[in-house]
Amino acid sequence: MAEDAESIDEAGADEEESEPEEETPEEEMPKEKKPRKFGVGKNPLGLILNIRMFRRIFQILAFIGVNGYILLAWFHMPNVQAFWVSIWQNMPALPILAPLEAPFAVIAGSFDTMIREFSTGIFPFFTLGALLIISIVVGRAACGWICPIGTIQDFVTLPKRTKIRPSASTENELRKVKAYVFVIVAFFAVWVGFSRITGTSDALVSILGEDLAHDVFAPLNPAYILFVLLPMQEWPTGLGTLWYFQAWGWPFVQMVFVIIVFFISVWMPRWFCRWLCPAGWFYSIFSRNALIGIGRNPARCTPDTCNVCEVVCPMNIRIRKFPYKHMYSPDCILCLDCKSHCPNNAIVLRVS
Ligand code: SF4
Ligand code: SF4
Repeated sequence: MAEDAESIDEAGADEEESEPEEETPEEEMPKEKKPRKFGVGKNPLGLILNIRMFRRIFQILAFIGVNGYILLAWFHMPNVQAFWVSIWQNMPALPILAPLEAPFAVIAGSFDTMIREFSTGIFPFFTLGALLIISIVVGRAACGWICPIGTIQDFVTLPKRTKIRPSASTENELRKVKAYVFVIVAFFAVWVGFSRITGTSDALVSILGEDLAHDVFAPLNPAYILFVLLPMQEWPTGLGTLWYFQAWGWPFVQMVFVIIVFFISVWMPRWFCRWLCPAGWFYSIFSRNALIGIGRNPARCTPDTCNVCEVVCPMNIRIRKFPYKHMYSPDCILCLDCKSHCPNNAIVLRVS
């Protein structure tokens, strides 16, 4: 059982967490249900060549790739930068959280781009079209594999700590918050855009300020704070210039907010994605019936005596409540943690 806890902790959960369904209390779970360990004891390469490790390496590369211009500016690697620019150049945006104005960004997030376009009075045809195509095929895989804010949360949550998993009803209530955030942000974007089209934007922009008029979510957007505001600040170069932080003003407060967001992730995996991110909510609308998704093999799955998949799911999805063939939760980010931990190898990648 200690082995179970160790493996589950690694993925961001803990066996002591409360269970969502009464019919499968934790104490009834047989001790032989162990999360799978890839190749350990059989193939030493299994320690490296497994889905979890592959995703983490992919996330790190994508993190650098999304901010590809940093490769030239900081690391003097023009060829690697050119590689990432060529990868992204044919895409108008990706379903991630990444601001348009980030000085090192090679590609922006669909949500960020869409809000900017709406607030300047443009209908985001291409952004929405690309989002639709990507979401219909791979759902929210970009959240699980590419989004820099999701990546930071995943890495912060790696240390073995008891993870907090709210009850199903609390979780459902908290998930609604991101929809409200989306409605507020979209409302202001459309309002500002409409006023620009009708030539009546001056008063509105003077009330909101130019920055808020472009995107009212920006002050609370961790991606905007990290990738736009921070590079613009003057950083201390030694103890004598620590007072620079004081000169930052609001960006300092926003940075503290971002640190708090990631700090909470140590105990609550991806809590920002689950409850606050308006982009994630918007992407989930189109992802529900994605061609590629998760399912369970009924011949292998033992839902009455095992809940490993739910315990390790960073999005806190009650996987066993969904039909075997199609786990259609709009919150699934296709991270495959459930698949790599399932002791019965019952989780399957569904393509249909
Ligand atoms: S929910 Fe938002 S922050 Fe989380 S991975 Fe998706 S786009 Fe990024
Ligand atoms: S259901 Fe599985 S693939 Fe989807 S988010 Fe949860 S652990 Fe990841």
